[in-house]
Amino acid sequence: MPLAYYTSEEHFSHFTDEDHPEHAMRIMAIEQELKSQGIWEQLIHVNGRSADMPDILRAHSKGYVEQLHLIQPKHGHIYVDEDTAMSPGSLNAALWSAGSCTAALDDLAKGEQSRAFVATRPPGHHAEHRKAMGFCFLNNVAISALRAADIHHFQRIALLDFDAHQGNGTIDILGNDQRFLICSSFQHPFYPYTHYEQSKFNNLINVPLESGTGSATFRAMIEEHWQPALKSYAPELIIVSAGFDGHKDDPMAELNLLDSDYNWLGRMIDGIAAARNTPVLSILEGGYDLNALGRSVAAYLTGLKSN
Ligand SMILES: [Zn+2]
Repeated sequence: MPLAYYTSEEHFSHFTDEDHPEHAMRIMAIEQELKSQGIWEQLIHVNGRSADMPDILRAHSKGYVEQLHLIQPKHGHIYVDEDTAMSPGSLNAALWSAGSCTAALDDLAKGEQSRAFVATRPPGHHAEHRKAMGFCFLNNVAISALRAADIHHFQRIALLDFDAHQGNGTIDILGNDQRFLICSSFQHPFYPYTHYEQSKFNNLINVPLESGTGSATFRAMIEEHWQPALKSYAPELIIVSAGFDGHKDDPMAELNLLDSDYNWLGRMIDGIAAARNTPVLSILEGGYDLNALGRSVAAYLTGLKSN
């Protein structure tokens, strides 16, 4: 079955600083690479939508969302923390970012597709219940997971996060909630430093990776820790925080993953999903070297639809 690709032009309304690593060219680089590899025309293309407030409020407090609206600047930009730039269109982009993910989720739940990738920004996995940080305002994967549980009645939802940074926001929102299993791999010690330890949660599988970790160790750790947990959990839905900043060329982290590792991840996830016809929703997180990002997404998507 073809893979569905969700995106929207609304991400352009989120302007970051000129030198900021999280910028609109990231989405364009992915599109360009998928076109150059001939993958683009094989995808089903769907335009996203803006998120509904009830979906946002399952993951974030009302006060926090109101505060975001209050601090959003009318001109230029402000910094919500030392990394997270906010411009006049940032909340619009964040709402479309989350809404494109819930749109993809709804189509997967209806069985219209079995694999979807959302090329979106701003990313989401660092956004906590009441805190914006690490380039993120709204937690796209947590918003999608909670809608999947409450509206579509999925009972076992696996969240996989292979971004180089731990998805602290996802754990803050979904930690210790038995409807979800969170599998996370990340450079450690590293940003966000508020390391969420596995021992404090009954639904978290952590794979901390030393600086310099390459393909062989990464794959062995995922096979040892994620795969048995996923097999026994038997998820009804898989949601992936697909961050590509663990690539060796990425300037934002110190892991040494290759394009081929993202293809391996795609095949691994596809294999687990194929056993029970489990739908897979993959949502873009990090990835800041434009060439490596484009190639890594292409490799991942090729792996995802290889079975
Ligand atoms: Zn990251």
